[in-house]
Amino acid sequence: MNPESDRPARPAEPSSATLSWLKRLIAHQTVSLTSNLALIKDVQAFLEGLGYRCVTVFDETHGKANLYATIGPDLPGGIILSGHSDVVPVEGQNWTTGPFDADIRGGRLYGRGACDMKGFLACLLAKAESFAGAPLRVPVHLAFTYDEEVGCLGVPSLVEAINALPHKPAMCIVGEPTNMQVITQHKGKYSARAHFTGRAGHSSLPGEGVNAVEFAAEFVVFLRRLGQKFRTDGPHDDDFTPNHTTFHSGVIQGGTQLNIIPQNCFVDFEFRNLPNHDRDELKSLVFQYLDTILIPQMREIYPDVGVEIEVVSDMPGLATGDDAQITKLVMELTGANTTGKVSFGTEAGVFSAMGDIPTVVCGPGNIEQAHKPDEYIELDQLARCEVFLDKLTAVLGR
Ligand SMILES: [Zn+2]
Repeated sequence: MNPESDRPARPAEPSSATLSWLKRLIAHQTVSLTSNLALIKDVQAFLEGLGYRCVTVFDETHGKANLYATIGPDLPGGIILSGHSDVVPVEGQNWTTGPFDADIRGGRLYGRGACDMKGFLACLLAKAESFAGAPLRVPVHLAFTYDEEVGCLGVPSLVEAINALPHKPAMCIVGEPTNMQVITQHKGKYSARAHFTGRAGHSSLPGEGVNAVEFAAEFVVFLRRLGQKFRTDGPHDDDFTPNHTTFHSGVIQGGTQLNIIPQNCFVDFEFRNLPNHDRDELKSLVFQYLDTILIPQMREIYPDVGVEIEVVSDMPGLATGDDAQITKLVMELTGANTTGKVSFGTEAGVFSAMGDIPTVVCGPGNIEQAHKPDEYIELDQLARCEVFLDKLTAVLGR
């Protein structure tokens, strides 16, 4: 046996280009729901300077944008390398150094978004010139999205724009932090607010009003029973924790004071489905209950009461096969011999479901460090991602 092989490998160092890009991206304070345009313009100007063909897809307010930048031949196929530009807020968190002023210490780079997921974006930008200089057979598309952290709000319009382009990409990697493991499956998520409108009255005459709080409570109980049913009856997949589709009510708010029959109440609820659990069926179980049972009960006397559903986010799960070309490619390039499933949602489900683009999740950093004070990424992870992108460039030019 070679004693050398028992020693942990010395951590690799990322390039200065990746580190300077990561500092630059972190300095753009792109907290979700605020504008990301300064970052997008910065990146777009750089990529256009290298010859990338850029498409921007704005939100309605023109305060935010997705960027899609293509290099290489004007042909169908090729690969999308995608990440979100937004980060979670820092309010109420105790940081050792300024969250938007990246700091390197102890083999780590600290800053909001270092791990989730500007580290991956920095690696892409550091390698942008090498993609541009490579003899690519198929195009490389770099995608930068907005408002992922608040329910994947930006990426659907980007995927729509990609669907409308003359050439369809063949596959996609979303570089969320997975420690460079190949993730092929994650759960989907649907979240919504149910607004119950009843009819006010004096509490001494409950029969003359419609109590929105009571009907909302019935709805919460229905969702709870549905969750219990799936926990017991399945479907089950033991690679997920928990191993079934879940239902959850997180907020209920209604009524004004005890002697008034409450006119209004809302319930914030969600389900998180196993990727192969039919989402349309799950939604219709909820809507059918409202339409055929609860709303008719509410309307026994007054027709102008009811329930309105306001969808907050609707993110499909991801279920890419181990035999898919993208899975095999990323396994080959990372040297992985297994694939994994994770419980957190990503934009990969949207590329896969809406764009019909086979997608995996693979990126530097550990999700454990995401969203926390003193968020960091190991420099070694950035270096490993760079090696991965170098190998990918070589394969695409083969
Ligand atoms: Zn993320």
